[in-house]
Amino acid sequence: MQLLLEKIRQQGIVLPNNVLKVDSFINHQMDPQLMKEIGKEFARRFQNEGVTKILTIESSGIAPAIMTALVMNVPVIFAKKRKPLTLTEHAYTSSVYSYTKQETNIISVSKDYLKSNDTVLIIDDFLANGEAALGLINIVNEAQAKVAGIGIVIEKSFQEGAKKITNKGYRLESLARIASLENGTVTFYHEHSL
Ligand code: 5GP
Repeated sequence: MQLLLEKIRQQGIVLPNNVLKVDSFINHQMDPQLMKEIGKEFARRFQNEGVTKILTIESSGIAPAIMTALVMNVPVIFAKKRKPLTLTEHAYTSSVYSYTKQETNIISVSKDYLKSNDTVLIIDDFLANGEAALGLINIVNEAQAKVAGIGIVIEKSFQEGAKKITNKGYRLESLARIASLENGTVTFYHEHSL
């Protein structure tokens, strides 16, 4: 997605430990026009999958997820990062290790909002080692619902997540694929393979 690649090139900041900071348009300040285009693009790519619900994880996945849900005209659920006491008996849960925060969260989704007849599109802002996406996949599987695919705004292709997801046979669609953040420079996958 050209608009997204340009934004990353212009405003992305490479931090130590292979972390890309995109606080000016995704993770702190948000660019609604860009989010709208992201939503349209995910909706286009998954339009034939029979999606009934979109699932993401708080908080940075919510903006791209809701824009996609708006175009696809389906509800969006965000997994909560701390298991609320009131949901103990009535929630699907999964354990997710956060690469950027170096902590483990139990994520949860109420059983009220995910049913076995749902076809679920999973959306998130970043894909690194795949922990968040695999945690969301676990939750969909626990609900005996179907995974339509995984839509990622920025995939760091040099980390393990993409391989883990596609090896399990899931459809993965990433709007920007980063091959390397070496020497403080963003190299996109298509540039890398030239
Ligand atoms: P994973 O679970 O795939 O290891 O990491 C994905 C999650 O970690 C995303 O939900 C995102 O919040 C965060 N994350 C991973 N890598 C980066 C990064 O380079 N930059 C930012 N801003 N977030 C990241």
